[in-house]
Amino acid sequence: MSTGIVDTPSAGGGLKIGLFGGTFNPIHLGHLRSAEEIREIFALDRIYFVPAARPPHRSEGTLVSAAQRLKMVELAVADNPFFQASAVELERTGPSYSVDTIRHFRDELGPAALFFVVGLDAFREIHTWKDYASIPSLCHLIVTSRPGVASPSPEQLLPVALQPALWYDSTHKMYRHTSGHFLVFHEIHGLQISASQVRVLLRQRKSIRYLVPPTVAAYIADNALYQSEELA
Ligand code: ATP
Repeated sequence: MSTGIVDTPSAGGGLKIGLFGGTFNPIHLGHLRSAEEIREIFALDRIYFVPAARPPHRSEGTLVSAAQRLKMVELAVADNPFFQASAVELERTGPSYSVDTIRHFRDELGPAALFFVVGLDAFREIHTWKDYASIPSLCHLIVTSRPGVASPSPEQLLPVALQPALWYDSTHKMYRHTSGHFLVFHEIHGLQISASQVRVLLRQRKSIRYLVPPTVAAYIADNALYQSEELA
């Protein structure tokens, strides 16, 4: 019987560590469920959730503080031994660039195989990221899309600067990089939840029950987060 686990032949038998970045403004069950699916399918040993302290592509006005977003991530992952919150982007100064975070974990984790998990929406903008062409030489890339989200074919999504270094492995249905890393587009089942939806509900003083973990809902209520117009 199929386990549904995606064969990741270049992982080398060592630890397999996922990195899941985001603004997490706030973290919600859609993030957690997609990470759980990815962990299971790619047989990851751990996933670090890395809130962006100063996301280069977002205006500060829409965010609650990085410390508050990190706290909500900590609360959200507390009951899952495979998940861990990371403060690494809060400990750096300047904009939170993914490549710096990936390099940090690369140095920290030695021989572990790193899997950078990124949503298709964010991946489409990868050509605007700092040093993006070097990312596939540092880690595997798992690009997640949600069912029903119409997406162009993978070839159309690969940024031009990545194309010469990647080729398609039709046996494993993934792109491979000269470094031995792969890039795979993976459709998750996921949950139709977005942080913007949660913020809108909060601004309207409506319930967010079943959209975020209860501990996160309690933290938001205790700190009266996302109540003002400009945070929607
Ligand atoms: P916003 O609504 O403010 O844009 P968001 O809910 O998309 O926020 P982010 O923190 O920007 O949350 O997302 C971090 C990553 O999680 C992104 O790569 C995004 O594609 C992915 N993601 C967000 N919501 C979901 C979901 N419901 N299912 C799967 N992945 C998701």
